[in-house]
Amino acid sequence: MSPGASARPNPELPVRFYDNYTRSLREFEPLSVGRVGLYTCGPTVYDFQHVGNFRTFLFEDVLKRALVWNGYAVHHVMNVTDVGHLVSDADEGEDKMERGSRRTGKSAWEIARLYTDAFLEDMARLNIEPPSVLCRATDHIAEQIAFIADIEKNGFAYRTSDGMYFDTARQPGYGYLARLDKAGLEAGKRVDVGEKRSPTDFALWKFSAPGEKRQMEWPSPWGTGFPGWHIECSAMAQKYLGDYFDIHCGGEDHIPVHHTNEIAQTEARVGTRLANFWMHGYFLLSNDAKMAKSAGEFLRVQALIDRGFDPLAFRYLCLTAHYRGQLNFTWDALAGAATALERMRQGVHGLPAGGRVIAALRDEFRMHVDDDLNMPRALAVAWKLLRGDVASPADCKATLLDFDRVLGLGLAAWQPPQTLVPESVQALAEQRRQARAARNWAEADRLRAALHAAGWEMEDAGDDYRLKPRG
Ligand code: AMP
Ligand code: ZN
Repeated sequence: MSPGASARPNPELPVRFYDNYTRSLREFEPLSVGRVGLYTCGPTVYDFQHVGNFRTFLFEDVLKRALVWNGYAVHHVMNVTDVGHLVSDADEGEDKMERGSRRTGKSAWEIARLYTDAFLEDMARLNIEPPSVLCRATDHIAEQIAFIADIEKNGFAYRTSDGMYFDTARQPGYGYLARLDKAGLEAGKRVDVGEKRSPTDFALWKFSAPGEKRQMEWPSPWGTGFPGWHIECSAMAQKYLGDYFDIHCGGEDHIPVHHTNEIAQTEARVGTRLANFWMHGYFLLSNDAKMAKSAGEFLRVQALIDRGFDPLAFRYLCLTAHYRGQLNFTWDALAGAATALERMRQGVHGLPAGGRVIAALRDEFRMHVDDDLNMPRALAVAWKLLRGDVASPADCKATLLDFDRVLGLGLAAWQPPQTLVPESVQALAEQRRQARAARNWAEADRLRAALHAAGWEMEDAGDDYRLKPRG
C-alpha cells in the first residue's frame, strides 16, 4: 500500500489524538500528505531504564504502529541523552553521566555505551520497533552550539558565571504548554535563584568549573563546557525533522520543564513551537508513587524475566490501561496480564491460516485505536474475535494478526513451548499406537494407564497421537 491519507482503508473515520499544547482532542492530519515526522525523547543513559520508562516507550511504539497501520510513512527520531542532564532539573548539581561514572568506576563514555546497549536490548525484548534515527547528544555538539548562537543573536540568552542561560522573561508565551503560573513563580522566587534572572530561566551551555577537567567537555564561543539538557532535543529535532513537524512525545514529567524549554528555544530561533501535536505518556507507579531511577529502587525488564515473566506480558499490561492515565504496577496485575497473553497466543495459534481480514471488525478496532489510542477497547475487539462465534476461524486469525501490527504482541511468531517427552514415555506411546492399529484394545488401555501413571495424557488424533503432561 502506498503511504498517504487516501491510502487509509476508510478515510471517513478521523484519527484523533489528545494534544497537550491545546489541551484538546484534535483530528490528526499530517503536515505533508502521507508522511508523519515523530520525535520522542529517549533515555538518559547513566543507568538502566526501568519499566516505568518503558511504559512511555511502549505508548510511543503503539502510536507509531497505529500511524503505520493507518497507512502513513513515519519518520521517527529518538535522542539519547549522554551529556548535560543534571541531577536537578533546575540546572543544578552534578551531571548524571559524571555521577554514573563515579558510581560504577567506568568512564562517562563507557557507561553511555553500556546503558545505550542495555536500553536497545530491552526495547527488542518488549517488541518496540527501533526509531528511524537514534541520535546521541554528544554526536551533535556543533548543531547545539549553532542553535545557542542563534538564540543569543536573537536576544534570548545571557551569561552568568557558570554558563549561558535562556531569558524566559523575554518570551511572553513561555510556559504555555504547562500553563505555568509565571507570576506565582516570580512572587515565590527564592533568594537562591543565584545569578539567574527568573526562576524559570534554564542553562543553554554550562561552563566546566574552574580547575575542573570534565570527561565530557567541548570548546564553544562562550567557554569550555557542555550543553544544557534541553538544547539537544531542539537541535536534533530540527536537524532531522525540520522547523515544524507532526508529533513530539515524552513522559508526563517532561511537560513543565523539558518540553516547555524545548519549545522556548525553538521559538526563539525559528519562531515555531516545534510540533503540531504534543503527546505524553502518563506514569507507571510503584506503590502509588512514580517509579524513578533517582529513587534508587526500580524494576528493570530483566527483573521481570528473573521472576519467570515474558517481557511481552508487561507490554500486554500496558495495553490494558489508557496511556493518559497513571498505572500502578503490581506483580498480581502482571501475572493477570501474563495469563491473558498466554490465552490470546494459544487462541490465535489454534486457528487455521488462509483467511481474510474481516472489514467490519477492522473498522471497529480502528475506531478505538484512532480514538486517541484507546487500546483497552481495541483489545476487547480482539477478544471478541477469539470467542469464536463472529466469523470463520481462518478469517478471525487473519484479522487478529492484522490487529497485532498495532498491539505488537508477536502473535504470528509465537509457538507453544515444547515440553520434552522422556524416551520411556515416547516408547509407551508408540507401543500403544501399535496396539490400537492392531485393534488390541485391552493392551491399548493397559498402556494408557501406564502413561497416566507416568504423568502423561495421550490424545488420539486419527492414526496419530499427541502427548501432553497430565494437568
Ligand atoms: P529518562 O531516562 O529519565 O530521560 O526518561 C526516559 C523517558 O521515560 C522519558 O520520556 C520520561 O518522561 C519517561 N519516564 C520517566 N519515569 C517514568 C515513569 N515512572 N512512568 C512512565 N514514564 C516515565
Ligand atoms: Zn527531549
